[in-house]
Amino acid sequence: MSDFLDYCEDKPETIIRVKKTSNNRWKAQQREYLLEINNSILNKIEDECIRANSVETGGILIGNYSDDLKTAFISDATKQPVDSSFGSTWFFRGVVGLKRILLKKWHNDERAYYIGEWHYHPAFNTKPSKTDISQMKKISNSVEYQCKEPILLIVARNSQLCLSMRIFIFPRNHDPVEFVSL
Ligand SMILES: [Zn+2]
Repeated sequence: MSDFLDYCEDKPETIIRVKKTSNNRWKAQQREYLLEINNSILNKIEDECIRANSVETGGILIGNYSDDLKTAFISDATKQPVDSSFGSTWFFRGVVGLKRILLKKWHNDERAYYIGEWHYHPAFNTKPSKTDISQMKKISNSVEYQCKEPILLIVARNSQLCLSMRIFIFPRNHDPVEFVSL
């Protein structure tokens, strides 16, 4: 975190993107989950955050799991569906267009499916909000989503326009667990 802030102070007038490592592997604290996300997907999410500027935005994360179900690979992220609604401190993701995208991903050579959500919080708050937590719990229990352990990736912005990122997993019937960068 201190690294990140030092980095931000160099150029306070421009938006600073999340510092990325080459492999972007994350491990859930005290659990055996691993997560991998491609830098191009992180850049795509950040582009959407920069575009949204001072209001929240978000979309879904698409990917798959390793055979032992211990590693999640995030291979795509959608923009906010057109029927989403949002303000400076809240966001309700819409659904228009997602079924079509997910159907296509399901039939790809490398099958991919719904794996979680991403959010942008322009008012510097990297924590999931109360609404975020209840929505993620609902998703983990939903028959429709078929996702027992949805992931929530949050990009937040501070007053110096620096972006930072935190990732959580919401195991069904358990408290959320945060991933740490490896
Ligand atoms: Zn949120």
